[in-house]
Amino acid sequence: MLVSAAEMLKKAKAGHYAVGQFNINNLEWTKAVLLTAQENNSPVILGVSEGAGKYMAGYKTVVGMVNGMLEELNITVPVALHLDHGSYDACYKCIEAGFSSIMFDGSHYPIEENIEKTKELVKVCADKGISLEAEVGSIGGEEDGVIGMGECADPKECKAIADLGIDFLAAGIGNIHGKYPENWAGLSFETLDAVQQLTGDMPLVLHGGTGIPEDMIKKAISLGVSKINVNTECQLSFADATRKYIEAGKDLEGKGFDPRKLLAPGADAIKATVKEKMELFGSVGKA
Ligand SMILES: [Zn+2]
Repeated sequence: MLVSAAEMLKKAKAGHYAVGQFNINNLEWTKAVLLTAQENNSPVILGVSEGAGKYMAGYKTVVGMVNGMLEELNITVPVALHLDHGSYDACYKCIEAGFSSIMFDGSHYPIEENIEKTKELVKVCADKGISLEAEVGSIGGEEDGVIGMGECADPKECKAIADLGIDFLAAGIGNIHGKYPENWAGLSFETLDAVQQLTGDMPLVLHGGTGIPEDMIKKAISLGVSKINVNTECQLSFADATRKYIEAGKDLEGKGFDPRKLLAPGADAIKATVKEKMELFGSVGKA
């Protein structure tokens, strides 16, 4: 059964580790992430962006697939199904479809409007036992066609949003989505520290986990980050393994063209990346 992410992140914050949110794109992706979580006895959050939801034939299809796998694969670790960077409308669609967690990304609204809409969603989610993530300060890079500049959030605005009753908060601290450019300035630990000082026990979320050096990840966790989003890194692992299979001509040998064979190296590569991240974040054995 899917669970809200509130409890697992409260435990993570108290235990000084982080739970990975791994974005899914299809059946192979979902199965790879769930099996890796189970094998490593780790809680896990499956992230679904609006674009990925559309690609997988809609939120209801995603809910059906994930719930089916939890049962058929005997997944017993805590699993949350989470809408990533949801618009106001998408939040309601996912609540309706059966997601157990949502992120309302109101960071592009003026802060007053972000507060109003977040407040409304806090109530709706609380009634249904769904966890809610909010965002302050846009996160750089490209996410479904929206390009942010990687600004640092205003700690006072973070406090205002945190006080609305959300379950966890994404605050921009110089992190960006996708690959980091050569001249990236690094994470602003000063901002992270200031946000944590004001928001107390609130679990903080680090988006754009791909390519952040390990020492920065560990420092961010020590400063209150309890959820780290990983998306691009699994895509790169999958593409690399799939390319190697094709380049080696394996699809031309025997029944190597069978999708169950052709997509297997990519799925194994996702599993390896997810395991590596769970070890780095410290969530192994924490289910
Ligand atoms: Zn993000």
